[in-house]
Amino acid sequence: MFNRDLVLKQRAEILHALCSSGSTEHLERVLDKLLSQGELIWEEYQNIQVQGRALYTNVRQLLDLVYTKGEDTCEFFLAAVKQVLPEAQGAGITFSGCCSNLEKTGESQSTSSQTLLTQRASLVTKLQACIDGALEALVESGHFTSSDCDDVLLPIHTPSQQARRLLDHVRSKGESAAKCVLHYIQESESSLNQEKWTLSKEFSKYQKKLSSSVSAQSCFLSSYGRTSHMPLDEIYTEAQLELANDFADLSGALDLDDIVGAAGTVNDEADTVLVSGEAGSGKSTVLQRLHLLWARGVSLKGFLLLFPFSCRRLNSEQRELSVQELLFQHCCWPDKEQEEIFQFILDHPHLILFSFDGLDELKQGFSDEHMVCCPTQRAPVNILLFNLLQGFLMKGVRKVVTSRPEAVGPMLKKHLRKEVLLKGFSPSGIDCFVKKHHRDPTVAAKVLESLQMNTALLGLCHSPVLCWIVSQCHKELLGCGEGSPQTITDVYLMILQHFLQHQSPLKSTMGLGWLQEHIKVVLHLGQLAFEGLGTSCYIFTDTDLETCYVTEKDICMGFLILSKDMSSTHSKRYEFLHVTMQCFFAALFIVLSNNTDRSTIHKLFEPQNMKGTRLSSNCFMGCIPSSDQQEQGLEGESVIAETSNLQITATFVSGLLSQRHRSLWFHCCPSAGMEKKVRQVVKCLSKGMHKHFKSIPQPVQGEKKSMHAMPGFVWLIKCIYEMQECKIAKDAMSKLEVDHLKLTYCNIGPVECTALAYVLQYLRNPVGLQLDYNSVGDVGVEQLLPCMHICNSLYLRNNNITDEGIRKLIAKGIQCDNFQKIAYVLSR
Ligand code: ADP
Repeated sequence: MFNRDLVLKQRAEILHALCSSGSTEHLERVLDKLLSQGELIWEEYQNIQVQGRALYTNVRQLLDLVYTKGEDTCEFFLAAVKQVLPEAQGAGITFSGCCSNLEKTGESQSTSSQTLLTQRASLVTKLQACIDGALEALVESGHFTSSDCDDVLLPIHTPSQQARRLLDHVRSKGESAAKCVLHYIQESESSLNQEKWTLSKEFSKYQKKLSSSVSAQSCFLSSYGRTSHMPLDEIYTEAQLELANDFADLSGALDLDDIVGAAGTVNDEADTVLVSGEAGSGKSTVLQRLHLLWARGVSLKGFLLLFPFSCRRLNSEQRELSVQELLFQHCCWPDKEQEEIFQFILDHPHLILFSFDGLDELKQGFSDEHMVCCPTQRAPVNILLFNLLQGFLMKGVRKVVTSRPEAVGPMLKKHLRKEVLLKGFSPSGIDCFVKKHHRDPTVAAKVLESLQMNTALLGLCHSPVLCWIVSQCHKELLGCGEGSPQTITDVYLMILQHFLQHQSPLKSTMGLGWLQEHIKVVLHLGQLAFEGLGTSCYIFTDTDLETCYVTEKDICMGFLILSKDMSSTHSKRYEFLHVTMQCFFAALFIVLSNNTDRSTIHKLFEPQNMKGTRLSSNCFMGCIPSSDQQEQGLEGESVIAETSNLQITATFVSGLLSQRHRSLWFHCCPSAGMEKKVRQVVKCLSKGMHKHFKSIPQPVQGEKKSMHAMPGFVWLIKCIYEMQECKIAKDAMSKLEVDHLKLTYCNIGPVECTALAYVLQYLRNPVGLQLDYNSVGDVGVEQLLPCMHICNSLYLRNNNITDEGIRKLIAKGIQCDNFQKIAYVLSR
């Protein structure tokens, strides 16, 4: 099809793609490119880009113009649109046929004014880093008046718009002004390259103050609580980092420096790098390590200032703040010359780094509704954060944000520079962590030996938080014998017992009475955790503690730690050792308390059904937005984040209600109530599974019946595994009739492999199991062995499996009658 036809036929789609963000940026960048190519003349540009007119009207005007200009202009236009739109936004548009090369031709331009046009796109980018200096040069040389400057710097303009305004003004002033600005840009580029900044005394002082505060905040791991502060240097163990996008040549291991570095960049224009990983995979710790290395001048040397933020803490900021206030009040206060220091930050965005830990914990889900571009404008902190991540605010400042993967939707993804996945410890990482945790080599060797003997536990240790718990409880572990932990719930129960008995060793009760002895503490903390989850609350004030009867003695148990707060203006606040610990206590409360709503379990297992109903917060409702908000597309990503915590809690509830633990509750609550809760959970799991099976489409004739797992399927499997009751697994699997089970891109690591193998072994007929693009690894391979007899084929491409892992699979495969095929790609 001709390009002209493509423009005409796709008018609505192109219009939507260029306007849907509400920002004029895409249109302006397309115009820059068309001007550069000489496809538009200056007057045409001015007729399209009418200030104050609706964006849609401007884009329509451009569509009309390029269409009337003919085939060549349409080709350039489509090529420009393709380059400017993020991949996802341009996905629905056909660009085929547009093969124009929009790179500048390198022809020498006869005048500076012409250069301003032909290099407009790159000049806009360059000017953003030095706009104030360029204006000063233009004023000094008499080309600009102060009202020209004011017009350029109007706070409603984004930095790129300011750059364009400047170029437009310069053009109207003639050749000499154009020469002046080009000269300035060239000069400032070369001085930037030589890294010549003259730092004032006050700036250097501030830099020192900030880095010593960052160092103090990051040198200890807080999860070791009040009992023992573990220096990060002593315990930090390399975790596995991978690029989310499939870069064949970069599939090897990434270093910490690569998080901020150029490797794997998918969108050069974006500033935000996302580090994603499951709860407990070590996101905060990796960030903490980066902070520490920066503060010591070892890493991230190109950044003069690093501002670390915790989204959990930002939740408690009720005031509206400007970016300046956010930086100085939440990170580090300059003792003098605040304005000068902030101006330096504005003038040198590429020398500044912001980090935001735990985006999933922010109460408000990501939204691009409210635009703020001016760094001195006050706005609610979440709005500032969203504008920073999108690059509307502080363009050019690199931002690193961590989150659980579910909490980052397409709305934010389109603003990402790249995404790095955190995949927990490798087998050698587990080894290394245990050795660091236990200085005594004989103890470390014993712990490692017991892990090797219990492959389910070894699989769990792939997750750093579980590896820490297991190492922390080594005495219980080594003394466990037969009752050695198998499930995540077992591991958390082990640490519960460890902490409770650690605090009162003299009274320590033998046998199963330990829970009964501490039931009050467990219920108080459980209520706090439960109500916190319902209101997305992870930091608790004294009043919150009082409401749930949490006493000083309860705090001393070590499950709650003092919340670090760099601004230190607040009174004491507490948080759970880790968010998964909060989920565990919430689950204990649901299981042990008689005070929860009768429908709590039902709601917990079907969080998606909670949309649109308004119930009290202690039934997990505070976190779920009302249906009308949903319709407007607001808060969608926060629902997903909350669902993830509810799912973790539901997994623990399943585990706690397992037959294996019922004797533990025997003295603590009436067994009739407990039986009822068990029946409720079993019913929910069976219903959940049934829903998935119902969604399996009938196969096309001659093809195999295939199920592509929907989100939630792996979670249900994990819940069934936690219950450790083969009858439930058998019942669930007896209804699954497929030839092919597809679980690609499902975040399946070793922990999930253990659960899958446990449940799938009860399938009635052999299946093809497709696990491509997960993080099974060699540890996960071991976990899969028990279900190989029910697999006729196994797909494990892009799973970080080595020769040794494949050797084990093949050795097992040849013993299984049904097993026919294995597909894999070895990791280097
Ligand atoms: P996330 O932020 O992904 O939820 P955290 O960084 O809070 O996970 O990790 C949970 C716990 O796991 C930490 O408190 C620490 O004990 C342990 N941990 C995580 N990553 C590492 C690491 N790289 N080295 C040593 N311990 C780690």
